[in-house]
This record gives sequence, structure tokens and C-alpha cells, in this order.
Amino acid sequence: MSEQRLRIAIQKSGRLSDGSFELLKSCGLTISRGRDKLYGRVQEMPIDILLLRDDDIPAFVADDACDIGIVGQNVFEEELLNETHEAPAQEVMRLGFARCRLMLAAPKEWTFDGASMLEGKRIATSYPALTRAWLEREGVNAKAVMMKGSVEVAPRLKIADAVCDIVSTGATLDANGLKPVSTVFASEAILIRNQNAFSPEKLVVFESLLKRINGVLTSKD
Ligand code: ATP
Ligand code: ZN
Repeated sequence: MSEQRLRIAIQKSGRLSDGSFELLKSCGLTISRGRDKLYGRVQEMPIDILLLRDDDIPAFVADDACDIGIVGQNVFEEELLNETHEAPAQEVMRLGFARCRLMLAAPKEWTFDGASMLEGKRIATSYPALTRAWLEREGVNAKAVMMKGSVEVAPRLKIADAVCDIVSTGATLDANGLKPVSTVFASEAILIRNQNAFSPEKLVVFESLLKRINGVLTSKD
């Protein structure tokens, strides 16, 4: 990869990838994908695309492996709160797609009348830092326990009393005897960038891309 080309990290496949590809397409960019499908090249501008798991995107951008990236605010903020990087990536703008909510969900039989109900309880989540930040804001002492997947089964397995998970329809929660009771974090896709100054060549490309993205977003309003 040439040093002069702007490197963008986007999700390889998943709930962010269609929106990310569509946005770049709406900016007038044609992406040719490499045979290994981990790498793409933009025809109209000196831009390279790296296709990654969404969880890896904040670190790739922070560590300068990529200049910019598209990721969910939920994943980005969780990483920021964990202070994994001395010089973390920076949020540039909200992109208006992949909207979702991190929600606290409790057993259906609970009559939930506020966060204080969680005092002394265990909450299973893939987002312990965001969950702890919310608990702190609510002034509640509860334990957030990390689960990478199948968070919603934790109460049935008696691993936790409640969960904090990304909710779209609520069907998965319902099937596990849970109901959403409070929004912990509202998220959407965001553009992030490495915090170092770009080279003059990259800066020109970055600014031109930002202008195009802003144009696309404003035309949607
Ligand atoms: P990967 O294989 O890249 O690690 P993943 O399974 O962790 O993918 P996805 O389910 O594709 O992640 O979700 C990626 C991001 O999309 C989430 O972090 C969140 O920001 C957003 N998202 C999650 N669920 C929804 C939803 N139901 N609707 C819209 N956006 C969502
Ligand atoms: Zn992921």
C-alpha cells in the first residue's frame, strides 16, 4: 500500500458493512475488492479499504494501521472507557445509520421501577465499561460481568440477574424471559480518525471525502 493513499477501515460483513459500502458509493466511489476480500481499492480517489471485524477497527485506527474508520459508537466508546490506547482514535462525525440501543433488560416478572432495583445485582454484558458508566450515573452499586456472546441466556443460567445488550426488536430478549427496561447507550455508525496530523497528500483526500460525506448526509435530511 502506498503511503500517499488514505486507508479506511470498514466492517467486512455484518450490520455496519452494507451502510458503510453504501455511504462510500453515494460519495461517488467505486470499490474494487481484492481476491482475498480483506482489501479494496477505490478507483476515483487514492483510497484503500481494509475489511475488518468491527471490534478491531478502533485499535487499527488508533495504532495508525488505518487513517480513518467506520464503526459503531457503542464499540468505540466502550474501547475509549477501557483506556486501552494512550492516543485513541477520535470521533469525526455521526453517520446516521446502524442505529441501535444498548439496553438494560430484566426478567419479565420484575416490576421495574428504576435503576435502584439493580442494587447488589449482577448484570451480564458485552459492554461492561458502558454499563458501569451508566450504573455510576444512576448511583447504583451493581456488578457488570463480561460475556462475549449469548448474553441473554445469563439470567436463565443464573449467571446474572439482568443483562445489558444491543436490542433491535426485543424478540431474543422475549424468548429468554427478559424485557428491556432502560436505555443505557444510544448508538449509530460514526467516522473515526487517527489523532496524528495527516500528510498533505492524505489531508487533501480526507477533506475531499469529508465534503462528499457531508453532502450525502445533508441531502438525506
Ligand atoms: P464482527 O463479525 O465484525 O465482529 P459483530 O457480530 O460483532 O460483527 P454486528 O452484529 O455486525 O457485529 O454489529 C455491528 C455493529 O452494528 C454493532 O456494534 C452496532 O453498532 C450495530 N448494530 C448492532 N445491532 C444492530 C441492529 N439491530 N440494527 C442496527 N445496527 C446494529
Ligand atoms: Zn464484532
